[in-house]
Amino acid sequence: MDGHYFPQVKVSIVSDILEKARAGLDVVKVETDQRIFPVEVSCARCNHSLMDSDHIIDGYPAIRITVSFDNKHGWLALSCLYGSYNVVSSHEIPPGTILNIFCPHCHSELIGGAKCGECGAPMVPMIVKGGGVVQVCARRGCNGHILDLGGATVE
Ligand SMILES: [Zn+2]
Ligand SMILES: [Zn+2]
Repeated sequence: MDGHYFPQVKVSIVSDILEKARAGLDVVKVETDQRIFPVEVSCARCNHSLMDSDHIIDGYPAIRITVSFDNKHGWLALSCLYGSYNVVSSHEIPPGTILNIFCPHCHSELIGGAKCGECGAPMVPMIVKGGGVVQVCARRGCNGHILDLGGATVE
């Protein structure tokens, strides 16, 4: 598409790609930036995939998790592109809110021992398909994240 390669395209995302192409693919930096690539993740507890093809962000199925904050419960869909911070959520979440994050399948809280190097909030670990762990900061608006693919660590 306009000189861009889209791997493993499912029928469900074709219309999204066409829409982006009409807007001009080159204005979508996430498609052209070499540092940004998709990851597929699953729950560390039940191993169920967290990918949700009903929510497409940046042209890929989003990572959907259950969140709670201030006695509110809802869901948050994160871009699966490592390096993209695009999200969609069921509730408006004030910047700076530290979220409690749960697996939508087994309802376990997704929590590890690590703290965000940028803000000190808990990091939320998820298992990367193919090996490794990605951790994202539980604080809304903080872009702290770590990707450990077993060998190299990408920050
Ligand atoms: Zn689970
Ligand atoms: Zn943080």
